[in-house]
Amino acid sequence: MNAPNAAGWRPTMGAVNPIALPQTASGDYGLQLEEPLIFELGAPGKCGVDMDEVATAPLAALAKFLRPAPPALPGLTEPEVVRHYTRLSRQNYAIDLGPFPLGSCTMKHNPRLNEKVARLPGFADIHPLQPKQTVAGAFEAIAELADWLVTLTGMAAVALSPKAGAHGELCGLLCIRAAIEARGEDRPVVLVPTSAHGTNPATAAFAGFRVESIPATQDGRVDLAALTARLGPDVAGVMITNPNTCGLFERDMKAISDAVHAAGGYVYCDGANFNAIVGKVRPGDLGVDAMHINLHKTFSTPHGGGGPGSGPVVLSAALAPFAPLPFIQRGADGHVHLIEEEEAADHGHAQTFGRMAAFHGQMGMFTRALAYMLSHGADGLRQVAEDAVLNANYVLRSLEDVLDAPFAAAGPCMHEALFSDDGMADGFNTLDLAKGLIDEGFHPMTVYFPLVVHGAMLIEPTETESRAGLDRFITSMRSLAARGRAGDVTLKSAPHYTPRRRVDETLAARKPKLVWKD
Ligand SMILES: *Cc1c(COP(=O)(O)O)cnc(C)c1O
Repeated sequence: MNAPNAAGWRPTMGAVNPIALPQTASGDYGLQLEEPLIFELGAPGKCGVDMDEVATAPLAALAKFLRPAPPALPGLTEPEVVRHYTRLSRQNYAIDLGPFPLGSCTMKHNPRLNEKVARLPGFADIHPLQPKQTVAGAFEAIAELADWLVTLTGMAAVALSPKAGAHGELCGLLCIRAAIEARGEDRPVVLVPTSAHGTNPATAAFAGFRVESIPATQDGRVDLAALTARLGPDVAGVMITNPNTCGLFERDMKAISDAVHAAGGYVYCDGANFNAIVGKVRPGDLGVDAMHINLHKTFSTPHGGGGPGSGPVVLSAALAPFAPLPFIQRGADGHVHLIEEEEAADHGHAQTFGRMAAFHGQMGMFTRALAYMLSHGADGLRQVAEDAVLNANYVLRSLEDVLDAPFAAAGPCMHEALFSDDGMADGFNTLDLAKGLIDEGFHPMTVYFPLVVHGAMLIEPTETESRAGLDRFITSMRSLAARGRAGDVTLKSAPHYTPRRRVDETLAARKPKLVWKD
């Protein structure tokens, strides 16, 4: 079943060590198990379930809908299916296995206490269509989460229905669009700095705006002069990430907000990096009108592999009336209301821009985030930000003598350290160091982002890595940097110790193998 194939698992320790390792007959090596594609495993006629003739015989009236030929699906038995996916899952890397220094993604430990709370049947087993009076406890929990988010950010309200950071950006921009329409104005342009996450310009375009970029200064921050020069009656607003994707705090944020407001625009803040400032800075004090918070980053709900996430959007008093429904709000009577279309006018939401999702939100993410907040407390959350910044600066200062750190001279970084591949030997680059890191047993850092730095390597250790863990990582990075500077050819062909060697990523994306037996 596990015959090695040309593209498959090859033990390559021999390429580095003097002793070439013997081939095994099975194609597996130790308990690292090779796994072919499911199309290569399957065979026609095999099946994991028994279906009798009656169940599979087409009804006469439906016969015309029958395919002319059966679909090309691989046939597998139940144990083959189970083993296929279990083997693949063991080739996966996770935050529960080791450090995951992906800059911007805040891959930190997810406390198991959160899981315990999220699994309480009163939270875990509720259904979105249950009568409202049977889920009053869930509403209370959501309102408590909302109170924390509004307090921590110093904003007026929070829309909890967006399902992820990018969805939150869309929510914020649709609020801005609705507010501008309510003023009877036409402002087609949104300004986005060059260092922004790709979701920012994509969201602005998706919301119907024209995107214009604002350059960065030499020290990696938004160019305030260039931004203010571009403001005018056609500008709906700006999208600023703070702390930004270079790992730096935008010190001019208040001046930016004042200038944008004076020109009649709104300030969207990408709050994905809130982990670095939670409990230290309130975005409301900086003049922000809307900001998404990635519960799955800052408030430690598990993420990766596509979700689930949750991207609540905190809003200023100017934008709160336009928030999407349904909307959770504590009334003057102290009770929590889930405001839907019928009650919108009575609760100050007559100007809502509509719905972003059928139901209110991601209950499992809400309960995990609330458990995280309550178990840390206000002082514990402040400590999170301080430790995240401390760890990132430890990495920055421990590597700046062997890796180019473009903004290191300007002072400390926030939650992530940014390096470039300047100074590597001819032909050696960021990709080689990232692949080498896999051989060292670490998930690679974020590479080639932000775009304002050539060959960027963005490292976000987070506060949950210990000093000893950081030292191990730094030792590996220093060794890789030395190999890259020296032009060590074995680094160019890394990774050597993984089930797959360096793949042609363009070919893999352009010509994925998705058919059974071509
Ligand atoms: C993660 C991230 C986003 C997008 O958040 P998702 O939850 O993945 O949609 C946006 N901006 C920045 C800076 C991010 O790090």
